[in-house]
Amino acid sequence: MAAKYKSYSIGNIHNIPGINVLEDSMIEDIKLVAEIYPFKTNNYVLENLIDWDNFVNDPIFRLNFPAREMLTNEDFEQLRLGRERMSVDEYQQLINDIRVGLNPHPAGQSSFNIPFDNGVKLEGIQHKYKTTVLFFPSHNQTCHAYCTFCFRWPQFVSGLNMKIQAKETEPLINYLKANKCITDVLITGGDPMVMNSRILESYIDTLLEVDSIETIRIGTKSLSFWPHKFVDEEDADKLLAVLKKVVDAGKHLAIMAHFNHGVELSSSLVATAILNLKKIGAEIRTQGPLLKSINNSSNVWADMWKKQVQLGCVPYYMFLPRDTGAQHYFAETLPNALKIYREAIQQVSGLARTARGPVMSVVTGKVEVLDIKNDVYYLRYLQHRSPEETYKIFLGKSKVEAPTWFSDLEYINEEDAHLFI
Ligand code: SF4
Repeated sequence: MAAKYKSYSIGNIHNIPGINVLEDSMIEDIKLVAEIYPFKTNNYVLENLIDWDNFVNDPIFRLNFPAREMLTNEDFEQLRLGRERMSVDEYQQLINDIRVGLNPHPAGQSSFNIPFDNGVKLEGIQHKYKTTVLFFPSHNQTCHAYCTFCFRWPQFVSGLNMKIQAKETEPLINYLKANKCITDVLITGGDPMVMNSRILESYIDTLLEVDSIETIRIGTKSLSFWPHKFVDEEDADKLLAVLKKVVDAGKHLAIMAHFNHGVELSSSLVATAILNLKKIGAEIRTQGPLLKSINNSSNVWADMWKKQVQLGCVPYYMFLPRDTGAQHYFAETLPNALKIYREAIQQVSGLARTARGPVMSVVTGKVEVLDIKNDVYYLRYLQHRSPEETYKIFLGKSKVEAPTWFSDLEYINEEDAHLFI
């Protein structure tokens, strides 16, 4: 029988099977925090990934359900009082103000990455690195469930009017044809794997018209949140056939799969989904952020990378949570993050040492922390807006006691000053 997707949000949170194990006050906290951050889950996550007998410590519960601590005490109290005392308009304004204060578009996404064509801003497209363009189709600015730490949280909330999305493909295609140095298109969002095969096909067919495109990447967490997509959903066979068109056209199909914990890889359904993607010629690379209270343990990462390699995936990035939303709640200090990465990578075979980390996506590029010795940070850009700046080692020092992000560092040598902008 075909798998049926069942979605839950704040509106029907009380219908979630198992939710009764939460105290009423905890559900009220979730509801209040979800005024700011989006909340959505589904029957697969609830039934297969969360251990309801120990939900308080469960990594996937924490990954999927908003927590009180994701807001500062001040914001939480303002909201609580505002809900009781403010008019609807005043309350919405308060929500918007809090959201704007959470840096909804980190790393200069809305100011530096959006390309122009003859002076016209190309909506729903980002071009940061020379060879790669990100494309945000309007059809997939949602996900099968939402992650509490997601740096794309403004994509899923109303009221901010800050969504990055493209309603048409023509500007993208024109831009790609005019910029032949672009070889890779990453379809992202949201999760492109919420699209049905018919809609996805229209995007894939259009992209395949551009000869200079060599790789189509698809950023997705569906292998974790809804693996039925590639196995036994009604549309699964057709969807796989659409994806296979990329390979049949002689292009590379890269599934950029998002995983945060080994438990997400534990079901036979995920293994089958991965196998089905590999059968059509897709390469699956895995990535995800290091998060306090979810996966801040070297053993968790080592086990996850080992399992990924066993299933035929290629570990790619250990990111650090970006400077948006509840970063204060999820971020490890840079020294801790490096220690966790090292102790994880030391446990795995060479095949899993393709995982790079800890890495920060910042305004200028992707910065890797290579080492920290005597308070000197050894850094390099794995990606930079200017390709000539990549892979050069440069030095930094911390401006604060417990640095968690690149902006907490500053240059040591004047010649490196431009790398800290
Ligand atoms: S699935 Fe990806 S895009 Fe969606 S909420 Fe999670 S991290 Fe964000």
